Amino acid sequence: IKITELEKIYRTEDIETSALNKLSIEVKEGEFVAVMGPSGCGKSTLLNILGLLDDPDGGSFMFNGIEVAHFNERKRADLRKRNIGFVFQSFNLIDELTVFENVELPLIYLGVDSAERKKRVEVVLDKMQIMHRRNHFPQQLSGGQQQRVAVARAVVNNPKLILADEPTGNLDSSNGNEVMQLLTELNEQGTTIVMVTHSEHDARYSHRIIRMLDGQTVTENLLV
Ligand code: ADP
Ligand code: ADP
Repeated sequence: IKITELEKIYRTEDIETSALNKLSIEVKEGEFVAVMGPSGCGKSTLLNILGLLDDPDGGSFMFNGIEVAHFNERKRADLRKRNIGFVFQSFNLIDELTVFENVELPLIYLGVDSAERKKRVEVVLDKMQIMHRRNHFPQQLSGGQQQRVAVARAVVNNPKLILADEPTGNLDSSNGNEVMQLLTELNEQGTTIVMVTHSEHDARYSHRIIRMLDGQTVTENLLV
């Protein structure tokens, strides 16, 4: 990821909010980076742009060697479903679908056939140690189990990049550490991770902390 002088402005009626103000960040393949900063500094906006869910108003965003800042929604969606997995604070599982079906969804979007889907979903459920709950619904699981399902969903398409937004925010410390351990293992297997967090403890699992303030980076701390 190479972001240069990225700008994002939200316009609502007569108010303009500059959420990203010429932000420049580089994340190398295989890195694990934590993004920290006070509420309102632009972390979610940055994750939305990195995740190709939203487009910037100015600046450059190179992803995997391609300039994607001006991609339209269709091209962004195509790149997103092949390369990016998301993990959220509130898990964002679909309550009407079983564990298996939730994890299968990204593969349906990718057009993978049903036999191959079954194989791949079972491999990740096994890896996340949640296989025994494959036919349960999210509301029947603990928070820690739900986040393991969400991590399984994020990795089932073998993404190059995982974006995590406060992944332990709704978990107690033991489940939180377990999720951080899972992210660490995925990173050790080569997946790049960018994680927004308010937790200095969680940030210590990363290689580097990018600290933001008012839509800009203020400091970067190398941890390893
Ligand atoms: P945090 O990053 O601390 O988890 P949020 O991302 O929930 O906090 O919100 C950060 C800030 O952005 C808050 O000030 C919130 O009011 C504002 N915000 C988030 N979404 C919107 C929105 N859709 N419209 C207006 N303001 C928003
Ligand atoms: P953070 O995630 O660090 O809390 P955000 O990226 O959510 O910060 O917000 C950055 C700034 O942009 C804040 O001032 C917030 O109020 C504003 N903002 C975020 N989303 C919207 C939106 N959809 N409409 C208007 N303003 C927004």
